[in-house]
Amino acid sequence: MCGIVGYLGKGEAYPALIKGLKRLEYRGYDSAGVALISKKDGSLNVYKTKGKVADLEAYCADKDISGSVGIAHTRWATHGEPSAVNAHPHYSSSKNLAIIHNGIIENYASIKKNLIAKGVEFRSDTDTEVLVQLIEYIQVKKNIDLLTAVQVALRQVIGAYAIALLDKRNPNQIIAARKQSPLVVGIGKEGDFYLGSDASPIIEYTDKVVYLEDGNIAVMRLGEPLQVVNIQNVKLNPEVQTVDIDLGQIEKGGFPHFMLKEIFEQPECLRNCMRGRVVDNGVVLSSITDHRQQLLNAKRFIIVACGTSWHAGLIGKQMIENYCRVPVEVEYASEFRYRNPVVTKDDVVIAISQSGETADTLAAIKLAKEKGAFIYGICNSIGSSIARETDTGTYIHVGP
Ligand code: GLU
Repeated sequence: MCGIVGYLGKGEAYPALIKGLKRLEYRGYDSAGVALISKKDGSLNVYKTKGKVADLEAYCADKDISGSVGIAHTRWATHGEPSAVNAHPHYSSSKNLAIIHNGIIENYASIKKNLIAKGVEFRSDTDTEVLVQLIEYIQVKKNIDLLTAVQVALRQVIGAYAIALLDKRNPNQIIAARKQSPLVVGIGKEGDFYLGSDASPIIEYTDKVVYLEDGNIAVMRLGEPLQVVNIQNVKLNPEVQTVDIDLGQIEKGGFPHFMLKEIFEQPECLRNCMRGRVVDNGVVLSSITDHRQQLLNAKRFIIVACGTSWHAGLIGKQMIENYCRVPVEVEYASEFRYRNPVVTKDDVVIAISQSGETADTLAAIKLAKEKGAFIYGICNSIGSSIARETDTGTYIHVGP
């Protein structure tokens, strides 16, 4: 889950948004983008690039970056490869709305199918675009205001999200909502609002914040107090807190070191990995059900990996041999690739790599492929080289 920043006030949004994205860079990401409502002509401009926030700045150098309302995002791809098209913000069909989103919409495929059947066209491969298209579809069809459309849409959505939405026709407003992904609203001294997936992009401007709770929808309007409702439109009283922490503490999630923070993030990583896959009486992975026969035919599994992934492979060997009674070999990819291993078309090779770019593992895959084996990849980075080179596989979805 990556970074969200928003600004609504009387000043210029762009500098605060870029600065905020840089504050969130410690989380890791693969692309970045910004949406602004132009002061010049009222258009809703979306600029996005693959790569770093600095690449986004370079891309925006000759663009209209005026506007005192805007939202910005750093993405860690979960659905659709890292690319400019899949980066956030995403427009709705009419381009009246733009959305940014952290998290995963689990039932995006069925919602997308329904919308396509109704004639909605999609530009990206993301689960996020489904949400903005659904909101617009509901808004137009029922002829209702944006907040109500967001509430109706979110009632249909299964998954985790922190979202922020801009509407070109309502340039003094940001609507934001959260479920399972954190979102913080900062209340500035001049009636301006800041938004962040954590407080780090906010605290240099204000120490007054509202940590939104699950199911909260925040409506920020210039000149009005912050309004918080739930998806049933019940009005809530947001608790404004005064934060007294420095940036370093926030970036490390309150831990003294990044290493400790990452250790304590492990339960959340495991939940993210298993979300939507554990059903009543087992685990369902589409990559397995879709390739059932190749896997059942395997006379042997060969797990190729390096480092920590190799150690994970050793556990895999225990489990596969125990449950499936098929022999498993675990090979160091760097050794495997430099000999002439015996591999046949009756073998299934499982390649494990967090980044999906481990050079030795990639070379081992190519070698095994030449020898006719069926290749199954397990990695974390969407659209990585290993994800593309393998016959099928599973993303572990544990985030940066
Ligand atoms: N699921 C969304 C995507 O793949 C958002 C990922 C994120 O949290 O950055 O575009």
